[in-house]
Amino acid sequence: MRNKGDLTNNFSRHEFECKDFCGFDDISLDLVEALESVRTFIGRKMEVRSGCRCEAHNRSEGGVRDSRHIHGDAADVRVSGADPYMLAGVFYALHLEGQIQIKRLIPKTKGNYLHVALRGSKDPNGEYFAGFPEGEK
Ligand SMILES: [Zn+2]
Ligand SMILES: [Zn+2]
Repeated sequence: MRNKGDLTNNFSRHEFECKDFCGFDDISLDLVEALESVRTFIGRKMEVRSGCRCEAHNRSEGGVRDSRHIHGDAADVRVSGADPYMLAGVFYALHLEGQIQIKRLIPKTKGNYLHVALRGSKDPNGEYFAGFPEGEK
């Protein structure tokens, strides 16, 4: 298979770079590999709406304090034509199967994207899968 991305088959580092051009692009490879697994599973292009954010950009985006985007282990992704809850369902299923390891999924209907993270901001080790009752706390 031809490699299109410089991190995984489909993802390149520049896609995760902070959007205010500060150059912060230290994204977690574990996160990118989880995105790649889901991307491969669904066979559709996955757009990275937001990956790394420096503190200033996180503030301007209205992100929560100490957002995981600042730590490079969260990304907001979108798949054209897919509802964010549907997309969350795929991540959740692969997580339950043990193919990926994530801690947090937050579908956002406004903007049609899904927040995927390896940790939570207030509760770094707690799992929270919005929309999937057995995972909520
Ligand atoms: Zn920045
Ligand atoms: Zn996010």
